[in-house]
Formats: sequence, C-alpha cells, structure tokens
Amino acid sequence: MELIKTISELSSLPAPSGFEDLAADRIHEMMASCMNEVWRDTMGNVIGVKRSRKAGAKKLLLDAHMDEVGIIITGNEEGFLKFQPLGSLDPRNLPGSEVVLMTDPPMSGVIACLPPHVLSAEEKEKVIQVKDLCIDAGLSDREASEQIPPGTPGVFKSGFFRLGENQFSGKAFDNRVCVAVMLDALSKLKDRELDVELYAMASSQEELGTRGATTGAFSIEPDYCVAIDVTFGKTPGSPKTGTYKLGGGPTIGIGPNINMKLYNRLVELCENNSIPYQIEVMAGQSGTNAWPIQISRGGVATAILSVPLKYMHSPIETFAVSDAQAASDILVKLLENWEYPAEQI
Ligand SMILES: [Zn+2]
Repeated sequence: MELIKTISELSSLPAPSGFEDLAADRIHEMMASCMNEVWRDTMGNVIGVKRSRKAGAKKLLLDAHMDEVGIIITGNEEGFLKFQPLGSLDPRNLPGSEVVLMTDPPMSGVIACLPPHVLSAEEKEKVIQVKDLCIDAGLSDREASEQIPPGTPGVFKSGFFRLGENQFSGKAFDNRVCVAVMLDALSKLKDRELDVELYAMASSQEELGTRGATTGAFSIEPDYCVAIDVTFGKTPGSPKTGTYKLGGGPTIGIGPNINMKLYNRLVELCENNSIPYQIEVMAGQSGTNAWPIQISRGGVATAILSVPLKYMHSPIETFAVSDAQAASDILVKLLENWEYPAEQI
C-alpha cells in the first residue's frame, strides 16, 4: 500500500461527523484485505480483527477516527443557505471557502463574504459568527429548498497538493492521515503472525466528542490501545509549547491519559530503530479518543501517537509525509515485537 496514495484517496471523500458512510465503505474494503474479519457497528465505526496465533491472547486496539469537521444545512434565506458546524470550526476562516454539499450528485457552494469596500471600519474589526454566514450555491430560494434541504451535510472542498519536498496540504487530514497510517501498518503486518489479537477501529464522530470510540471500545473490550490522531504543528505565531515541528517525527504522548509502560515501549522502539519522534506532554484531557478509551469498562492501557498537523480544521491542513511514515513504522515495530504481557501492567 502506498501511504500517500491512500491519504490522497481517503482525504478526498466527504465524510463529516455523523455522515461517515463514504469514508467508512472505502476503509472497510481496505481493512478487509488485511484483517480476518471486518464489520460496521451501530455507531458507524469500522472495526476489523486480526486473530492472534496465541490462544487467549490479549487484545490490542488501534484507533483512528475517520470523521472530519463539516457543516449541516439548516435552511435558506432567499437561496442563501444557512448552516451549523459539525465539529469545531473557526468562523473567521470560513468566508471565502469552497464547500461540497453532499447531495446526489454533490453540489458546490462558496461561503459568502462581503467585499472589503463595503465594510465599515467597525465591521472589519468584528468577529464574525457562524449564524451570520451563509453558503451561496447559486440557487433561488425554491431551488435551494428543493435541492439542498435542511439536514444536508457538507465539507470543505477537497484539494491535495504538495508543499515543498515533504509536505502536503488539503482537507480532512484530521484524521484520515492517521487512518491511512493505521491501514499502512495493517497491510505491512498482513502476513505476520502476531502475539496479540489485533483490533483496528476507524471510529465515528470524534469531532463531536469522541462518541464512536466510546461505544466501540466498550464493545471491543481491549486490554491495550494506541490512539492515533493529529496534533498541533508549529507555525508562525503558534504557542511555543504544545506545538510540534513538521518533519520532526510523530509525537508520543506522556501524561495521565497514557500508560507509562506503553509509552516507554514506544520510545524504546523509536530509539532502537532510529525512528524520529517528539515527546508531547498531555497534562490532562488529551483531546483524543484515548481519553474515553482509557476509562472504558475496567480501564485500558492506552498510548497516543500523533502526527503534527498545521492549520487544523481548515481546508489547508498540512502534514509531513515523513511523520506519517514514521508513525506507521512505529506501529509495525510495536506489533511485530510484542513484549507486553498483561502481568507487566
Ligand atoms: Zn479534529
């Protein structure tokens, strides 16, 4: 599997929180080629299992959420569509963005903005609210009501382009980059016999509060979990702490959300195999699926592996290929060299 090709394909699919079907179907297919069994559960999670060679082996779950931030149409005013966000969007970044509305066939729209010439000095200063924004799909009010009814979801228009040698920019890299990383690792492990029962979950509705992972972890009942997600890339003006250099390797989380033995194991594997990594201190809520998974049922030994991403939740999210590749390499090493008997936790 070529990682970049998979990222390009998966990130192009419109699949916002609660409307993940298009991504789920493709991920299901990809997982089916390297797992023993794959299914979709009630919450829409795609879950696969690769049986262990050992009878009664412990269960390890790889989790990466597949939903992306998006919008949902609430109505129209004279053909201009009103909407609410699905997930967290910064309204300051929205005017001027192109969107794809998930009608059949999909329709294009642009988030309307006023020319600067007509704005008063006061209006230029004002923080715009989502409720004051609208989408122009070039329709009359009647056409809009018929063709794009309330409840129609939408996403940022897809783009996938290279920046420099090592980076790509586009939409939905949060978190399809990590879904692709997970699938890449699974495909490399396809013909390997493992000492753990390996579960992989492309989870739904993370952007609305880690919802798919919460129920998915409950039903899978894993002993260990590695949650794979994106983290904040360093950019001009970004905070000095809590942001990570693109190309510096994926981050390995440390803090109360993370099992220290799993953390140490991941660091050790990186050191022993010359895989670049960065340490990410997570003092409390990690903002990832690891948060609910760790306290699922009787508790799960959980680790967090993250790919630094610039411009999160925008149409120009940007990641470094080498970080994604290194994240896949770490997962492969962890599973190939599983030395983590339950007694040690
Ligand atoms: Zn996100």
